Amino acid sequence: MPQFLSTRSTEQLQRLALLLLIILVGTLNGIFSLIEFREHRKDQQSTLANQATLVSSNLELHIRTTHQILEEIVAQHGFLSTEQLQERMQSLANAMPIIRGIGVLDSRGFPLGGTRLVPQGTNFSDRPYFQNAQAGRQRHRLYISAPFRDLMGNFSVALSKAVIDDQNAFQGVVFAVLEASYIEKLMSSTLYTSDMWALLMHVDANDGVWVGDRPADMSGSQALPQADVDGLMQGLSDRNQISIVWEGEEKRHIIAASAITGLAGPGEKPLMVIMGRCHDDAMARWVRLTFTQAGLFLLLAGSAYWGLIFYQYRRREYAAHREADQRRIEEREHDYRVIVERTADCVLHLDPAGRLSYANPAFVNLFESLSSGKVLNEFLDLVAEEDQDKARVALQAALEKASEQLLQVLCVTKSGSRHMEWTLCSASGRTDRVTGVIAVGRDVSAHIALNRELRNRAEHDSLTDLANRGHFLNLASVSLQRAHATNEPCALLMIDLDYFKEVNDTWGHHAGDVALKKCAELIQVLCRDKDIAGRLGGEEFAVLVAGTLDDGIRVAERLRLAIASETIMLEDGRQFQLTASIGVAQLQAGENLEQLMQRADAALYAAKQKGRDSVARA
Ligand code: GH3
Ligand code: MG
Ligand code: MG
Repeated sequence: MPQFLSTRSTEQLQRLALLLLIILVGTLNGIFSLIEFREHRKDQQSTLANQATLVSSNLELHIRTTHQILEEIVAQHGFLSTEQLQERMQSLANAMPIIRGIGVLDSRGFPLGGTRLVPQGTNFSDRPYFQNAQAGRQRHRLYISAPFRDLMGNFSVALSKAVIDDQNAFQGVVFAVLEASYIEKLMSSTLYTSDMWALLMHVDANDGVWVGDRPADMSGSQALPQADVDGLMQGLSDRNQISIVWEGEEKRHIIAASAITGLAGPGEKPLMVIMGRCHDDAMARWVRLTFTQAGLFLLLAGSAYWGLIFYQYRRREYAAHREADQRRIEEREHDYRVIVERTADCVLHLDPAGRLSYANPAFVNLFESLSSGKVLNEFLDLVAEEDQDKARVALQAALEKASEQLLQVLCVTKSGSRHMEWTLCSASGRTDRVTGVIAVGRDVSAHIALNRELRNRAEHDSLTDLANRGHFLNLASVSLQRAHATNEPCALLMIDLDYFKEVNDTWGHHAGDVALKKCAELIQVLCRDKDIAGRLGGEEFAVLVAGTLDDGIRVAERLRLAIASETIMLEDGRQFQLTASIGVAQLQAGENLEQLMQRADAALYAAKQKGRDSVARA
């Protein structure tokens, strides 16, 4: 969809397209229906015309047969007696159910005989069938009258032939009156629906024998307007059947006509069989089904249109939700970016090969900028040589399996080596596959230094900086265990300054402190790295010497001498000296620190007893 089209315009275009499609399909439907309507009507018309032809040809057959009968009577006229003629006519009339009666009239119109009784002296010269034959006077012509009402008031048709003698003189008329009820029966048999009707009429009379319900708009003295009858005749002049749609005053009718033309003479108007049915009734079923179809189409079109509107609404809703979600995600991402970029911690994203793919400003500040000449490509580039293995193992673990690795390593920053504590989190999104590592690091150098400071304070005496009693005991215990394990000798020196109370009393407490510090310095100077020195409390010190008893005594002697020969200088220029007594005991097999200390203490006591400023062995 082109970008310049807004959603609204797109929706309107979609609706317009659908509407046009509906209109197009509807129009095509309408056109096809119209064509089908005409075809269906034509079909109805031709069916009706066929029925009319069926009746007319049937009637024609009957009339031709009747003609032959009349010819036979004419031929026998004059040869048979009146009784014989009467008998002959009766038997022929009986044999032909279409014939109601046969009669013979003389040249003036008086009956000479017939199958029906008529009152004496009745003259038939005014009858069309007499007049037609009298006027025509053609020997072989059959004259067909217009349907007329007979003496009984029944509609009928009469067929007549002129009797011409050898001198060509008119001798009378032989005629047959057709049985209207038979004609009605014949026509009725072709009516296939209740709204159909049939009419046998002569063009001149424009009325005749009806079967079926005569339509109201044909109930006048003339069945059809003369113009329509003329039109039908015109149509029938070049074919034997025709069908039209006739607009009656009340209804439309399908009318079919078929003429019995074969028997009419030149210029004579023939009998016509006209059949009809109500146009709307004939088309009713088709119209009903077509309207149902149109209704279904409208329903379908309506459903499609409302379906489109709902679809568009649903899409709008979905787009709005997605947009809101997207906005929320962007807000979150923005927040996360702010957090990551503003945090004092270093945040890195490492690809599966451990290469840096993202670094936050805190990292850039602490290490070299990624954009500067010296590029840090890999996480391991940050780590100092001595911690490379440790870092590699942790990074590998985070890359291999979704996990979180804690790593404390020395890193080479632009301000020198710093202790960094890293959390390496496997980046895997929502899957199990590790796609990289997110490393969050923090400079813990100050923290480590503080820890060291605190531990140092906790383990060392603040005045002399020697190990305090607790720390000394810990260190000595470890040393003793090692000595026992390796069978190496070690000796413990217990040192106590002599008459120190007096030093305090004489020179002051500060002077005592200065003296304590000086003694501690001397102890540290004289001790080797592998020896352990500590201040056990007050003016008591201890040194665990790695060596034999003699080694211990040697150290003790050197120490005693050093203290004794040291002059304590105070800031104010005053000076004094002091001495120390030292007890030495060598570690014995299976002996613990406490026991060793007790024995060294005992030796110290002995040294005091000796007069102080001396060394005694246990
Ligand atoms: P001795 O020869 O028998 O050991 O005599 P002494 O005076 O040293 O006896 P003692 O052990 O009873 O006295 C120790 C004194 O050390 C008591 C106390 O005032 C002093 N002292 C202990 N700790 C400190 C300290 O941290 N600073 C100072 N200035 N004096 C201390
Ligand atoms: Mg003491
Ligand atoms: Mg003392």
